[in-house]
Amino acid sequence: MERYLEKNIQQILTLIERLVNIDSGSYVKQGVDEVGNILSKYYQELGFEVNVIQQQEYGNHLVIQHKNANNPKIIILAHMDTVFPEGTVEERSFHYKDDHAYGPGVIDMKASLVTLYYAIKALMVAGHEGYKDIQIVLNSDEEIGSITSRPLIEKLAIGKRYALVMEPARRNGKLVSSRRGKGNFTLHVEGRAAHSGIEPEKGRSAIEALAHKIIQLHQLNDIKKGISVNVGLIEGGSSVNTISDHAVAQIDVRIREIDQVELMEEVLEKICTTTDVSGTKVTIEGEINRPPMEKTNKTEQLLHIIEEVGDSIGIDIDDTATGGGSDAAFTAALGIATIDGLGPVGGYPHSDKEYLEISSLVPRTLLLASIIQRLAER
Ligand SMILES: [Zn+2]
Repeated sequence: MERYLEKNIQQILTLIERLVNIDSGSYVKQGVDEVGNILSKYYQELGFEVNVIQQQEYGNHLVIQHKNANNPKIIILAHMDTVFPEGTVEERSFHYKDDHAYGPGVIDMKASLVTLYYAIKALMVAGHEGYKDIQIVLNSDEEIGSITSRPLIEKLAIGKRYALVMEPARRNGKLVSSRRGKGNFTLHVEGRAAHSGIEPEKGRSAIEALAHKIIQLHQLNDIKKGISVNVGLIEGGSSVNTISDHAVAQIDVRIREIDQVELMEEVLEKICTTTDVSGTKVTIEGEINRPPMEKTNKTEQLLHIIEEVGDSIGIDIDDTATGGGSDAAFTAALGIATIDGLGPVGGYPHSDKEYLEISSLVPRTLLLASIIQRLAER
C-alpha cells in the first residue's frame, strides 16, 4: 500500500488543492455541497453507495458505504465544512512551500477527506477487504456544533464497535484519545434606561449587573478539574451618558468529565437567574452541546491495537488529550471505542497560519488503511 500511495502523492495533493479551493464554511451551503458532490463521484467510482441526507440551511450530509458492505462495525467521521467565510479562498488559495501546504481548511479537514479516500483506494488496490467493514459519515456542520448531523451520527453509531474520527493529528503527530466537552451560553441582562446626569436614581444598570456576573462566572474556572469558563464577548448600553438598559455576554464553557455536564448547567443557571443589582433581570440560554470524550477502557484497547498497527509499519503511536471539541464526543458518549486525530499532521487550525505537513500524507494514510484492515479482521 505504501508504494501505491507514494506513487500517487501528486494526485493526493491535487485533490486536496481542489477541495481547499472551494469555500465551504459551515454557512456556505453551496460550497459544502460542491465538496460533497466531488467526493461522492470519487466514492461511486470505487463501488461505494452514497446516501445524501438533504439539508435546507446547511450543506447536505453524506453516508457512504461499499455496495458489498456487510453490516459494518467501523464508523468513520469526517466533516466537509470549515470555519472560513465565503471569499477566503480568493484571499489565500491553496499553495505550498517546502513541506507545508496552506489554504483555508487544509488541515481541518480537507486533507483528511482526501487521505480517507486514498486509504480506501490503497486497501482495494492491495486486495484487502477492510473497506467493506466501514460506514463513512461526511457531515456539513461540525464547526458549528453538528446541529443537524448529531442525531444522524448517533443513530448510525449505535451497534458499531469502533469509531475512527478524521480530525488532524496534533502538531507532534499524536492521536487524540480524550477531548473536553463544550457549551455555548448567552447571558442577557435587562435594566432600566435613564439619563445619567439628570435622573440617575431612576436607572437600573444592566452593565453593572453583568459585571458582577462576569466575575462570578470566571471564578468557576478550575484547571485541575478541567473546567474553563470564558466570557469572550460582551455588548451593552446605548450611550455613555445613559444608564444601560441591556447587556449581553457570550460564554464558552469546557468540561472534562461527563458528570460535569449537569453540574455545570446547574451552577450556571443558579448564577445567572439571580441579580446583584436590584431592578435588573438576568436570564441565560444555552447548553453543553458536546459531551466530553473520555478515555475509556474500550478506547485504551483500541489504542493498543493501533499501537500494534503502528509498530508493524514503523509509525510511533502516541496519544494525548485536547481541549477542542469534535464529533468523537458523540460516539464516545455512546460507549463506542473512539479514536480521533487520524488525519494527517498539521497545525494552527481555524487560523490563517493553518498548515498541512505534506510528508505526513503517505504515512498517515497508510496508518489509517492499516488500522481499518486490522479492525476489519477482528
Ligand atoms: Zn475539524
